[in-house]
Amino acid sequence: MNWEPWTGCYKVSEGCENCYFYGPHAKRYGQNTIEKTDKYDWPIRKTAKGEYNIKGNKILPTCFATDFFLPEADEWRKEAWAIIKERTDIDFLILTKRIDRFLISLPSDWGSGYDNVNIGCTVENQKTADDRLPRFLSYPIKRRFIACAPLLENLDLTPYLHGVDHVTVGGETGRDARECDLDWVLSIREQCVKADVTFWFKNTGSFFKHDGITEKINPFKQTSRAKTLGIDILKGKKLF
Ligand code: SF4
Repeated sequence: MNWEPWTGCYKVSEGCENCYFYGPHAKRYGQNTIEKTDKYDWPIRKTAKGEYNIKGNKILPTCFATDFFLPEADEWRKEAWAIIKERTDIDFLILTKRIDRFLISLPSDWGSGYDNVNIGCTVENQKTADDRLPRFLSYPIKRRFIACAPLLENLDLTPYLHGVDHVTVGGETGRDARECDLDWVLSIREQCVKADVTFWFKNTGSFFKHDGITEKINPFKQTSRAKTLGIDILKGKKLF
């Protein structure tokens, strides 16, 4: 289950080109109207018995079909922070390609960060990594990770790994998706090993290059195909 308090988005960098949700061939949502959903307060809605609809002790992916830090959501985000603060028994996992809007989007009591918020800064190439990650590391965040998705080229993340808990890597999905090369994935994995940071190859993408071939992979099999490689280093870490 995900929590999508609002929906809609638009391109911010190269990684968005074939966005699964809003790219030229998007099938799932395929629209750019940014609006609050009818589930915006879902984590604090209660049943007739007075219990939360969403049970505690879980990781809740938040805004995976939009971007939590969209400027259009500035007013709604205040309410979202209050909801997050109320549910201290849930880990809210927020991925963003707009980390530059982080500081101006914080609630007044953020301090050094809420304990139950895990922020993932998404990067897709060296340019976005060098632009976003130094800022990301300088911000007050208690739990943070890097999401290389969609991975579009070989990346050197070594200057940034000291400040994160975890790295996730994924290829691009879609009929016009760009290839994901196993060599790039293994290079990031090696960097994580050296930095003692956990690593998860989440999905191969639609076109997975390895051993001199490019394998075309159905969207529903990309996660299991990545798992068959047996290259994850999770050390018992619970993932979404
Ligand atoms: S920021 Fe994310 S959801 Fe928004 S267009 Fe880019 S890839 Fe899609």
